Amino acid sequence: MLNREQLFKAIDQSAPTGGPDGALLVVRVQNLRDYETMFGYDTGEFLVQAFEAKLRDCLRDADIMVRIGECDYAVVLPDLRDRNHVSMAAAKVARAFQDPLQVRSRPAWVNVAVGACLSADAATPAASCRQADAACKLAWRLRERHALHEGAPASLVSYDQLYEAIASNRLQVFLQPIYSLQDGALKGVESLSRWPHALHGMIGPDVFVPMAEQAGLIHEITRWNINATFRHCSAWLENQPGLKCAINISPLALTTPGFVEQMTAAVRIWKLRPDNVMLEVTETAFVDNQGQLAHTLSTLHGMGLGISIDDFGTGYSSLSYLKQFPVDELKIDMSFVRELTVNPRAARLVSSIIDMAHGLDAIAVAEGIESAETWRLLQEMGCDHGQGFYPGRPQPAEEALAMLADAS
Ligand code: C2E
Ligand code: MG
Ligand code: MG
Repeated sequence: MLNREQLFKAIDQSAPTGGPDGALLVVRVQNLRDYETMFGYDTGEFLVQAFEAKLRDCLRDADIMVRIGECDYAVVLPDLRDRNHVSMAAAKVARAFQDPLQVRSRPAWVNVAVGACLSADAATPAASCRQADAACKLAWRLRERHALHEGAPASLVSYDQLYEAIASNRLQVFLQPIYSLQDGALKGVESLSRWPHALHGMIGPDVFVPMAEQAGLIHEITRWNINATFRHCSAWLENQPGLKCAINISPLALTTPGFVEQMTAAVRIWKLRPDNVMLEVTETAFVDNQGQLAHTLSTLHGMGLGISIDDFGTGYSSLSYLKQFPVDELKIDMSFVRELTVNPRAARLVSSIIDMAHGLDAIAVAEGIESAETWRLLQEMGCDHGQGFYPGRPQPAEEALAMLADAS
């Protein structure tokens, strides 16, 4: 059994500079705890032995296998001749457990998820472990048996750089205005994060939010974004009960214990009214975790915060979550909005979503409005609020607020 330092050393040595690639797998037995609960710890121990024997069986002699947690194993794969071999190795491990193990002469099915990453894609062995672990979670979430960590998107930026940017407070809040489609009045702003990078210019949240989710940094980003947004908006929102600042919250952050307390503390510290705050949760969040999300969102809603379902219509989620807690807003995904003027089916869908929102006593908000024509059509359809490049682009918070103050 290797300790952590030895494991890190093995990962380090698996990909010598200029030599062949190495890789790391994290193999998780998802149902070991359930198995122990059903059949007892003794039988669970036999399952572990059978599992380890089978895992060892499908590895090469040079591969190093270490149990790193109750249900987790790390496998270091040195000397990969081809980068594609890592996916093949992960698939082979996953396939090995499609058939049941034999435990005390009975078949025992284990649910295995395998996450893989190339050692060369991570700056340190610890980062390798985080990436393989994130890939393992991704595999489970996608209901796949194995997944490969994709590396930093476009390999522009590293996780270490993102960590550094968060720690040294270099991310920025941009704000985009949201207006009433009926009378043009300002209704609020949405906070959108940006990462100004010395070499690559402004990096968008579509790049660094998924990175943060994979690397376990999303809690830091969420904490930063909530406080930075409230800090910018608190004076502007004073005595403005009708206005809202909307914050995008990753489902990973929402399901973290303590999120409700974190949010209420921030509202209190920045002296906001709870009804000045709108939390945007993407519809995809409800594919998993419906029960847990419903509980958290009901609590926050009960305290007066608004709940908006972002990118509505694209989440592949059952609508049953809409029964479980009150939503204040359905935010129609821009893929429908942008086709409004050219695709009659998109127009009918938008119209149906507006009706559905109203049927739920919520408002419909259209995002991605890029032309006067789209604005007018949405107005005719009875959509309540709108946002997009046509009425106003996202801008750095100070500039956006100065512009909004001048306009009012
Ligand atoms: P979203 O919440 O759906 O935000 C709308 C996105 O559309 C923003 O992209 C915005 O800049 C862009 N947009 C607005 N109007 C238009 C338009 O008329 N046309 C087009 N083509 N685009 C428009 P952005 O800023 O890149 O954000 C992408 C997504 O990242 C957001 O989608 C949101 O889900 C997420 N996000 C942004 N900031 C944060 C954050 O601090 N934390 C978390 N968890 N997610 C964030
Ligand atoms: Mg949003
Ligand atoms: Mg959206």
